[in-house]
Formats: sequence, C-alpha cells, structure tokens
Amino acid sequence: MRHCIRGPDLTPTAVRLLLLAPPGAGKGTQGRRLAAHFCAPHIATGDLLREQVAAGTPLGIEARRYMDAGELVPDLLVVSLVGARIGADPPLTSFVLDGYPRSEAQAEAALEWGVDHHRSLHAVINLRVAAHDLVERILTRRRETGRADDDAATLGERLRVYESTTAPLLDFYRRRNILVEVDGNGEPDVVFDRILEALDELGLRS
Ligand code: AMP
Repeated sequence: MRHCIRGPDLTPTAVRLLLLAPPGAGKGTQGRRLAAHFCAPHIATGDLLREQVAAGTPLGIEARRYMDAGELVPDLLVVSLVGARIGADPPLTSFVLDGYPRSEAQAEAALEWGVDHHRSLHAVINLRVAAHDLVERILTRRRETGRADDDAATLGERLRVYESTTAPLLDFYRRRNILVEVDGNGEPDVVFDRILEALDELGLRS
C-alpha cells in the first residue's frame, strides 16, 4: 500500500472525489484504494445502507425494499444518511464518495452542500467497463459473497437504473469540467494507476 499523500505541513492534502460507475465496475475496490492513498474516508452509500439493513433500523427496513428490487433508495433517505456522515461539525474536508450522488436530485443536493461548505468535489471518476464484463464480475461476486442483490434478475434492474438515472450525471459533471473517464478493464492495480495518472493531470496527485 502506498503512503498517504501529505501537504508541506504534514497534514493530508484535502481531496474530494466521487466514483461514478455502473454496478460491477470496481467502485468499491478503487474507492478503498483511493481513500487509503489520499488518507480520506471512503464513504460508500451501498455499505452505509447495508449497515442500516443489518442493524434493523427504521431507515434500513425502509431502504431494504428498494435495494432488494434493485431500485434506488429514495433521495431524502440517502441524502440524510450521507449528510450525517460527512456533514458532522466540522464537515469532513476530504472524502472518497462511492455510489453517491446517483440521481439528479442527489447531485443537486451535493453540489449545494459543497458550495455552502466550501467543499466542492475536485474530480468525478467514471470507470468504463463493457456491459457483458459487468454482469460476469457481479455474478462472480455473488458466488464469493452471497450478496443478495447480485443475482441475475436484480442486477438487470440495477443496470437499467444506472443507465436511466445515474449515467445522465456524467454530463452534469462533464459540464463542470471535473469528469475524469478511466478505462476500468484489467487488474485492479492497473486501473488504480490509470486513475492516479488521470488525477495527476488535474493536479491532484500530490
Ligand atoms: P451499491 O453497493 O453501491 O451497489 O448499492 C447497493 C444498493 O444500495 C443500490 O442498488 C441501491 O438500492 C442502494 N443505493 C446505494 N447508493 C445509493 C444512492 N446514492 N441512492 C439511492 N440508492 C442507493
């Protein structure tokens, strides 16, 4: 594992990233690596939601219906969950968001939060992987982890939801000049190096 990148005063350089990609593209794997590299918390809404489901909280019980169907959990629930995680007092200065925002309403909420708190995103990383590889990767994960929503039927719905509701955010961030598109095919190490190279071009490596 690489050492965290630190600024001249030895505090970690503030870096705010978002991984925006379809299910199975490697958001979790690359998100954890980026978080370690930049000494930033990895905030994966899927993980946060699964924790709520496992703990049987009212939010978890409500969210589960949507997750089991491969649909998006309502925006208000997700925005409040993320707000509680990054909006603490004082708000986090660095984070790697994984799987949030995922709808236009969430993107607008995140944009407004960033402007209000001087914590706008530095880069949005899109991992590009061919559709048939996504299905193969997810079904392999299902065999390895038994994750409930990785079955073939739910996956089809998750991919449809990505295309209809999440993929339009690519343009949202492209228009703001912070979208970084990276080839997500290949070994995790290779993909990670591609991401760092792309971030370097934005002046974000060190
Ligand atoms: P993931 O682990 O990112 O694949 O997310 C698993 C499931 O959690 C998704 O299929 C959604 O049901 C739900 N989920 C995760 N992130 C979000 C989000 N930002 N907005 C709405 N639902 C979400």
